[in-house]
Amino acid sequence: MADKPTLKPWIEAIHAYVPGKSKTSDGRPLVKLSANENPLGCSPAVHKALAGEHQPNFYPDPDATALRQAIGAVHGIDPARIVCGTGSGELLHCAVQAFAGPGDEVVFPRYSFSLYPLLVWKVGAEVVPAEDSDYAADVDKLLAAVTERTRVVLLDNPNNPIGTWLPRAEVERLHAGLPRDVLLVVDQAYAEFLEEGEDDGGFDLAARYDNVLVTRTFSKAFGIAGERVGWATGAPHLVDALNRLRGAFNVTASGQKAALAALGDRDFVRRSRDANSSIRARFVEQVEALGNHGLRALPSKANFVFVVFEGALSATTALDAISEAGYAVRHLPSQDLPQALRITVGTQEQMDAIATVLRQLCEASA
Ligand code: PMP
Repeated sequence: MADKPTLKPWIEAIHAYVPGKSKTSDGRPLVKLSANENPLGCSPAVHKALAGEHQPNFYPDPDATALRQAIGAVHGIDPARIVCGTGSGELLHCAVQAFAGPGDEVVFPRYSFSLYPLLVWKVGAEVVPAEDSDYAADVDKLLAAVTERTRVVLLDNPNNPIGTWLPRAEVERLHAGLPRDVLLVVDQAYAEFLEEGEDDGGFDLAARYDNVLVTRTFSKAFGIAGERVGWATGAPHLVDALNRLRGAFNVTASGQKAALAALGDRDFVRRSRDANSSIRARFVEQVEALGNHGLRALPSKANFVFVVFEGALSATTALDAISEAGYAVRHLPSQDLPQALRITVGTQEQMDAIATVLRQLCEASA
């Protein structure tokens, strides 16, 4: 008999999710540009709502009814086709758990949200990474990775950590190439950063097809990552599956209040998006100006920029210098990306400071 409870073998293989850092290894606090949070904070309406009357002795509404109604009204969706979660992360977990298990395969682009492999391993299924095209997701390669054992395809659109994006027509083509019994999850954590009027990257597929689920979050453009609220929409049978698996009172009372208030302030989201677009564009230009030193900024639709180091200056040297200057950014060697950094778009001042560090390093290493 073992002297302690024995972990299931497929759990043994999993490591805990490793979030972006906010401190140096010797404990100094850094400006956190490593978790794609909103540098503008959140809407004042959220602070007001959270400061109001609160009764923490009561359980929250288990179905987040008012919040689902408000989301439905904004997006023109029947609230019965919406489920809220403890962040969209919980709903991604539930989606994989509902449709994949031991012996099944889950396909996603090779460079995707680092949570994906963990949630696939957690249910004992197999990860099948699809090859990329210069780091970006590629529909033909995704379809080529699908076998008769594929049960779920995960697509973060816009993608994390690369920031690239597939237009709706490409997501539609992916869907058209999949067997009808495969679930396509379009994870749109960064969708609010797409330009106004730009195509929706496949959001509307959830309304049209029985095997498409779209997830969204309040953690990014809405700026309430700490409240842990996300939502998913899809056909009633998909929403029903997620409702069976999610936590019973998964969205806290304050989370529901905060998300409702955040949703009501579209102007804050617009300002966040506009600031992100212009600060990101300037930072991309500053990095591209260092192209002769082997630096490349991949095109981003999200609130971060993926910088590849292909010259004398390495990503690790840059990481150390950026950290020395007081900033935490994301290095992802564990995702087979030792040659790049993912840098969350902060304020103009912060991004200019990082661009200056990169320029000085390039000049010094020339
Ligand atoms: N999807 C993607 C692509 C993400 O980058 C993240 C957060 N980093 C999430 C989902 C999950 O976010 P949350 O659980 O806060 O909604």
